[in-house]
Amino acid sequence: MSIANNIARLKSELSPGNVCLVAVSKKQPIEKIQEALNAGQIDFGENYVQELLVKNDLLPHKIKWHMIGHLQTNKVKFIVPFVHLIQSVDSLKLLKEINKEGKKINKVINCLLQVHIAQEETKTGFEATELLKLFEENLLSSLSNIKILGFMGMASFTSDDQIIREEFKYLKNLQSQLLTFANDRNLILDQLSMGMSSDWKLAVECGSTIIRVGSSIFGERK
Ligand SMILES: *Cc1c(COP(=O)(O)O)cnc(C)c1O
Repeated sequence: MSIANNIARLKSELSPGNVCLVAVSKKQPIEKIQEALNAGQIDFGENYVQELLVKNDLLPHKIKWHMIGHLQTNKVKFIVPFVHLIQSVDSLKLLKEINKEGKKINKVINCLLQVHIAQEETKTGFEATELLKLFEENLLSSLSNIKILGFMGMASFTSDDQIIREEFKYLKNLQSQLLTFANDRNLILDQLSMGMSSDWKLAVECGSTIIRVGSSIFGERK
């Protein structure tokens, strides 16, 4: 199957509906991204800052870049000028840094808060209690150069659909609870990024609004 065919198939499986397809292009060559772009794909996801910077330089600026990998505070300044959405914000320190760098260039940076929903310890993200604290104590209200669009989560690496479904439902429920803190300034909170090649259908059933699909579009990574 060609990249164009894979994208067309995913888009038709997603329609009707309002789910955004992010093509995860990490470790894929420029030519493959160009092929996806030619097929009408605009949203792309990358995990590594260095790789993202190189690709942003080489590819058309109509691409909407999503940062989906762990982001170090000292790298924030490099991506803030052009990034469309930082999906992997996992600490208040990082939020403050993004806000600071956004302010410097007079730009409001879209973010998702990554939530730890998997059983594995290795996966990063906020715990529910930490998020509640952030919102209840109004710790984000002064960060006027960030906009929190919602939440991102990665389910456990397992073939057990039941476990994955429970984790997605957990995040959907948490979002519903936290939506009470939404305002029309910097807390929008209505987006939910969950689902990858192996589990996006389950994620959409559970209320996902953004899916991040790599190998089902581009094939296996090197
Ligand atoms: C690599 C990656 C994906 C895409 O994974 P596939 O299984 O190739 O679809 C999605 N989200 C994150 C955070 C990733 O790191």
